[in-house]
Amino acid sequence: MNQRDRKSANTGRCLCGAVRYRFDPSAVLWCGYCHCETCRRASSAPVVAWFAVRNSAWRWEGKPPESYRSSDHAERYFCAECGSQMGYRSDRLPEEIHGLAASLDTPDEFTPQVHYFTGKALPWCHISDSLHRYTDGGKTPDGSNAKRD
Ligand SMILES: [Zn+2]
Ligand SMILES: [Zn+2]
Repeated sequence: MNQRDRKSANTGRCLCGAVRYRFDPSAVLWCGYCHCETCRRASSAPVVAWFAVRNSAWRWEGKPPESYRSSDHAERYFCAECGSQMGYRSDRLPEEIHGLAASLDTPDEFTPQVHYFTGKALPWCHISDSLHRYTDGGKTPDGSNAKRD
């Protein structure tokens, strides 16, 4: 995450603006794309760009989001007014919350570092960057760049 002095660099909102969030950019843990099927279906988009922040550095503002249990270990937040996807939390990652980079007030400042679940990527979603790729959630390097591991 770019950490220029612009105040809006650490805020975001849903489509209608009811749900907003703010976080400390120094608490960002990673930024990356997820190609998994659950993200795809939850967002109805081919890929979702995420950033992870320590729980203690994140706070909701405005109307609190609703949540949906999307698997036995995770829930996804959304705006009850406009339906925008607003975040993700997993029991397996209790220290962090994940925000969607496209909901940032300044999404152009998002700097992705990695691709996850490229094994599930849609064939018409072509990845042409040189970022590190995992075929899964972060353990198995994609064959296309295994040599970097
Ligand atoms: Zn909304
Ligand atoms: Zn995913």
